[in-house]
Amino acid sequence: MNNLKEREYTSKIPFEDGHGRSHYSKNYNNDNKKMISVVAIIVAILAIFLIIKLNGAPKVEIIGQSTVEVEFGTEYKDEGVKAKAKFKDISNQVIVESNVDTSKLGTYTVTYKVPHSKSYDTYTRTVVVKDSTGPEITLNGGEEYRLQYGSTYEEPGFEAKDACDGDVKDKVTTSKVDTENGNFDMHYVVEDSRGNKSKKVRHVIFTDLTAPEIKLKGNSYISLITNTKYEEQGATATDNKDGDLTSKIVIEGSNIDTSKDGKYTVTYKVTDSNGNEAKATRTVEVGPTQATGVIYLTFDDGPSSNTTPKILDILKSKGVHATFFILNYNEENEKLVKREIEEGNAIGIHGYSHDYSKLYASVDACYQNITKLQEKIKQTTGKEVKILRFPGGSSNTVSRKYCKGVMTSISQKVLAEGFKYYDWNVASGDSGDVKTKEGVYNNVTKGLKPGRDNIVLMHDFSGNNKTVEALPDIIDYGLKNGYRFDVITTDTEMVTQKIQN
Ligand SMILES: [Zn+2]
Repeated sequence: MNNLKEREYTSKIPFEDGHGRSHYSKNYNNDNKKMISVVAIIVAILAIFLIIKLNGAPKVEIIGQSTVEVEFGTEYKDEGVKAKAKFKDISNQVIVESNVDTSKLGTYTVTYKVPHSKSYDTYTRTVVVKDSTGPEITLNGGEEYRLQYGSTYEEPGFEAKDACDGDVKDKVTTSKVDTENGNFDMHYVVEDSRGNKSKKVRHVIFTDLTAPEIKLKGNSYISLITNTKYEEQGATATDNKDGDLTSKIVIEGSNIDTSKDGKYTVTYKVTDSNGNEAKATRTVEVGPTQATGVIYLTFDDGPSSNTTPKILDILKSKGVHATFFILNYNEENEKLVKREIEEGNAIGIHGYSHDYSKLYASVDACYQNITKLQEKIKQTTGKEVKILRFPGGSSNTVSRKYCKGVMTSISQKVLAEGFKYYDWNVASGDSGDVKTKEGVYNNVTKGLKPGRDNIVLMHDFSGNNKTVEALPDIIDYGLKNGYRFDVITTDTEMVTQKIQN
């Protein structure tokens, strides 16, 4: 075997001689030794490399930037480090120490302590808390501010708050920039103590916010005997800006089938060029007899234990119903509130309190005076009352003493919240000058007008005997003259006086 191998090698030698052969044999032994030492060196290198790897410093990589900028007042979340030692992930063994406080401007250090042979290797990251945000400006009334054409702009106010400086409202400067058609922009500019600027613009637009006025031709209440024809008399409409809008009125429900008895509503609608809609209704009642009009008897300021039961007794004996705009009541009078409902009368909200200085102190106070009683009535009767009469009526001027403009605001608010409010068009005078039952009777009967909704203001406060005594005769007068008695519901057209505050 050896010979064979040797021959093989020998055959590769280009020149053959006796020396050559032995010479080659010597070379072969040397190569073998070299190869062994190369392997040994490689093994040694690998071993050293392995030893270094096992005992050397862990490999650490800071995630993200080594210097991080963070906005004042925001939350700082450190991204941490990745650490590897002895081929193992030891990231979760790294101790992170941070003094970053984003509520104070400044430069902070986050320290990462990476375990390394019974001690730690330390790495750091720099965190700069800075403020590059301007104050926040909020405009009361919004950035698009629409005003009634011809009115005067009164600044609705604004707020300016900065994350660092706090309230900077006093530093806001405003300027007016005219746009077109008499409109303008209000510019609000403010800078914080680091020079970060903020700006807001309010567009002030003068427009027509007033709805047209519809006036019915003829009566708002028409009584027809069965099978007589209903003649539509129409209506007129005028607008403060557009002028006469009569031709734009849309009438619905005038095609009344008078072969069927019942109560019908004819609706008149018109919209001005600025989208303000006005609506009016006419009630047409078809029946075997003709009624003159409708009487809504209303009693304010109750319930009272000595007047209310007497009024309820009279209503019951005459077979008519009334509407009670009540105040807060004690436990004893709870039964009167229940009785009013049970006997087919209606309840409306007058207010939890009748103290003008308190209830008209603000729009909020006035609204709470309504909802507080609404909640109580719901507990007593289970009914959610949505009709109301403001203490003093919507046209009162006494509220001006406590809060300017409160009636204008509260009347809009209650409508927006789904309430309807009712003043009166017949005043009995029983809470004022009138001291006798004759006086009450005369005021009411003279105030009644055929062909309309007559809302009669009376009171069932304690001791109001003149009204108790006049009531049977008032009801008799109404019935004899063909009036129909009804209670106010949210479907009843509002009768309101002109708001004066
Ligand atoms: Zn009252």
